[in-house]
Amino acid sequence: MSSSPAFIILGGGPAGHEAATYAARLGARVTLIERDLVGGAAHLLDCIPSKTMIATAHAISFNRRIAGMGLSPLDARVDIEILRDRVEGIKRWLESSIRDLLTSQRVRMICGTARLSGPHGVEVESDSGTEHIRADAILVATGSRPRVPGFCVPDGERILTTRDCYPPPHLPQHLIVVGSGVTGVEFVHLFTSLGSRVTLIVSRQQVLPRRDPEVAAVLEQEFLDRGVSLLKGAKAIAIDRHEEEVVVRCDDGRTVVGSHVLLAIGSVPNTEDLGLETAGIKVDKGGYIPINNNCQTNVPQIYAAGDVSGKLPLSSVASMQGRRVANHVMGMNALTHRSLDYDKAASAIFTEPEIADVGLAEAEAFSSGRKIRVTKVPFSSNAKALIDNDPRGFVKIVSDPATGVVLGGSIVGRHAAELISVIALAVTANLKVIDLVDALLVHPALSEALADAAE
Ligand SMILES: Cc1cc2nc3c(=O)[nH]c(=O)nc-3n(C[C@H](O)[C@H](O)[C@H](O)COP(=O)(O)OP(=O)(O)OC[C@H]3O[C@@H](n4cnc5c(N)ncnc54)[C@H](O)[C@@H]3O)c2cc1C
Repeated sequence: MSSSPAFIILGGGPAGHEAATYAARLGARVTLIERDLVGGAAHLLDCIPSKTMIATAHAISFNRRIAGMGLSPLDARVDIEILRDRVEGIKRWLESSIRDLLTSQRVRMICGTARLSGPHGVEVESDSGTEHIRADAILVATGSRPRVPGFCVPDGERILTTRDCYPPPHLPQHLIVVGSGVTGVEFVHLFTSLGSRVTLIVSRQQVLPRRDPEVAAVLEQEFLDRGVSLLKGAKAIAIDRHEEEVVVRCDDGRTVVGSHVLLAIGSVPNTEDLGLETAGIKVDKGGYIPINNNCQTNVPQIYAAGDVSGKLPLSSVASMQGRRVANHVMGMNALTHRSLDYDKAASAIFTEPEIADVGLAEAEAFSSGRKIRVTKVPFSSNAKALIDNDPRGFVKIVSDPATGVVLGGSIVGRHAAELISVIALAVTANLKVIDLVDALLVHPALSEALADAAE
């Protein structure tokens, strides 16, 4: 490979645009091909639009709590048009700042649909025709799209995927959410806050089936307090629309009638029609592209990153992988401080209360028989949580009883998504609980609960 390799990237989401910026900064000749807008689904269709709408939901929830703070709650009514403009404005701003950054790094951007034409070649279809480009290294970062079950066809009006919700044309009167994973519960929070009645179909006996049961229990209670109907142990097997109504039939014979249904049952990778076979790249049964720790596929100069890699479907992980790919393409892997450890990725659920976790979970350690020390402090004993009139939730820290090394943690409560960073840093840097206890923190602050839980 020459000192200035030609690096082609398919997809301008977090994995693609991070790889592009980093590699260009390190001296690569980078071409980024995006069929839609840079920023990717993360900025335009999923993560950012949903969090923008959830910010409004959080404000409504907060408004309900100000009565206890000597204020009269506002008569908060949602203006769908203003909300839509806000979502669009944030998307446009982010798209243009990413584009500016890429331009400043001299990344060549092509608006078109790309596919691999061989182990070193990419073919792009755009308004100006078909272009063939030769590359020393290629990154496939084409993301994913919502999973749609075979038994229904989303119509964007009443049978919705998450991408139809920013916001939907009319606020649903009665929304049926199918799927109680992270995305499903965030939308339950969103729509109940906006005033919709919601029924949540939960295939297991617990919402957030893969999370700590104590964490899930706080959220379930919050949903019940909001009047959400939980249909547990039921799987949707048919969805029909009858004019203004949707009917969802479940495998246990139960039927729910609502005004809208939202499918929140995961995603599928965008790996079809990419010429992967032509380039000799293997995919797994789900269509994901297996990668090694440098994000290389089975064809060493072709990398895959982000949702297509089937690791953790998170923007943060996609960006980190993109940076790793850039380093590797430029032969800078030796400079990488640590290898990528997906088990140490922090993640958050933007409900009310917020939920965040990182590293080893108590239940996981229990099922593997690993000895752990678990310490837990409720926010009801934290001065700032009381001052903010929101003492819901807790901080839980999982550590190694022999060494004191922090292995993981969960936070349920206000600003959990921000607070988890401290535990994430501890987990990444192998800090000990004593390091958290010794830190001189601000008082009064929610973060004091972290030090208390570490004691
Ligand atoms: C509702 C929802 C909320 C989410 N919230 C969060 C969150 O709060 N935090 C978080 O970390 N993650 C969140 N995620 C996950 C996050 O959005 C994804 O993990 C992230 O988008 C993955 O980034 P990516 O770079 O792999 O792909 P994407 O962001 O999907 O970008 C891929 C890009 O490739 C382009 N493309 C596809 N095929 C081609 C082709 N053939 N030629 C050219 N271009 C192509 C697409 O147009 C797209 O722009 C959420 C997901 C959903 C569904």
